Amino acid sequence: MGNEYSGTFITIEGIDGSGKSTVLDRLNEHYDYVHTMREPSDSGVRESIIQSLQSDQRSPLLTFFMFMTDRVKNIEFMIEPVLESGGVIISDRYADSTRAYQTVDLSGEGAPFDTQEDARNFIEMSMEPWLIEPDVTFYIDIDVDTALDRCEKDVAYENRRFLTDVKRNYDALAESEERIVRLDGNRSVKNITSAIHGRLDIPEPDHL
Ligand code: ADP
Repeated sequence: MGNEYSGTFITIEGIDGSGKSTVLDRLNEHYDYVHTMREPSDSGVRESIIQSLQSDQRSPLLTFFMFMTDRVKNIEFMIEPVLESGGVIISDRYADSTRAYQTVDLSGEGAPFDTQEDARNFIEMSMEPWLIEPDVTFYIDIDVDTALDRCEKDVAYENRRFLTDVKRNYDALAESEERIVRLDGNRSVKNITSAIHGRLDIPEPDHL
């Protein structure tokens, strides 16, 4: 594992309902010294993003920049300080969510790009100069129907067509990025949490 910092940055990714927050809560209970966070983060921006995703009149470009506002704040005030001090930070969602979701959103209805390829280039170009990439990313892989059965379906992204495209992007990222470890989301929460633990370079707690 290695970024330019002495600390370790881990992300958990997957479509809505894949089980990310459940697994993060489980990890949180057992690792006192590990910092955890989620995106969008618990700040005013999270409320604005959720409101925007629930609104009938929505701007995908505005959504993208709200996510980026949140990202800058998270990197500068949470991720970087922990990594500089040699700590471990685990995030529920991060840049791969931007890659998987915003590529679809920014090339969909009312969006500025005609193709996912154009949207992808814009996203990579926007993030590249300032992004800290994770050391390792756990992708909880689950089929769209199972995920939708588990979701509340109250925001714009939680529908079959959208999530099918998002999952395709996650699958492609997992194929191309060595840092991404794919985990079977149909397994139990305990099983997935242990699999994550098995890949971490930190002492094992007594019970997961
Ligand atoms: P996400 O954060 O990825 O959107 P959640 O962690 O909120 O997903 O999980 C969505 C729902 O699925 C919750 O009700 C949760 O209890 C359930 N769930 C999560 N992981 C599993 C699992 N491995 N097996 C069965 N149900 C799960």
